[in-house]
Amino acid sequence: MRFSDHKVKIHKESIAKRAMIDPQFIEKVISSSKDVGEYFEIEQGVLFEIQRDKIKNNSNLEKLDSFLKSSFNWAKSGFKIADNELIEYRKKICKSCDQWDAAALNNTGRCKKCGCSTWAKLRMSTERCPIGKWEAVEKTLE
Ligand code: SF4
Repeated sequence: MRFSDHKVKIHKESIAKRAMIDPQFIEKVISSSKDVGEYFEIEQGVLFEIQRDKIKNNSNLEKLDSFLKSSFNWAKSGFKIADNELIEYRKKICKSCDQWDAAALNNTGRCKKCGCSTWAKLRMSTERCPIGKWEAVEKTLE
């Protein structure tokens, strides 16, 4: 089996949480998935394609790798969300950082260093600050 044929199971509860962050992404994931009870099952390669299409219009190639890695790690964790205390801790650091663009993405913020939505990045348990100001709380693939 090729790596891209590997199937990833995404729990429906996680889909619901992610839908709050990125409804268009989730719409495409669901339409390309097989419904298997509590989960949606999707081929890894298809998931990557959806990610790639999503960022083509608003990101540059240097940020592509970082974005795909972040998304892959988060999917592997089952879309685990950081708790409120951790979100507030991370947010405080980002708000005082010169890499934070507060006005981007309808005033929800973007990290200029990695190009990710700060709003989403703060909530993804597998995320870490690209310059080490805060760390992930879930194990990630390097
Ligand atoms: S993730 Fe790190 S580099 Fe990006 S805005 Fe937050 S503190 Fe700054």
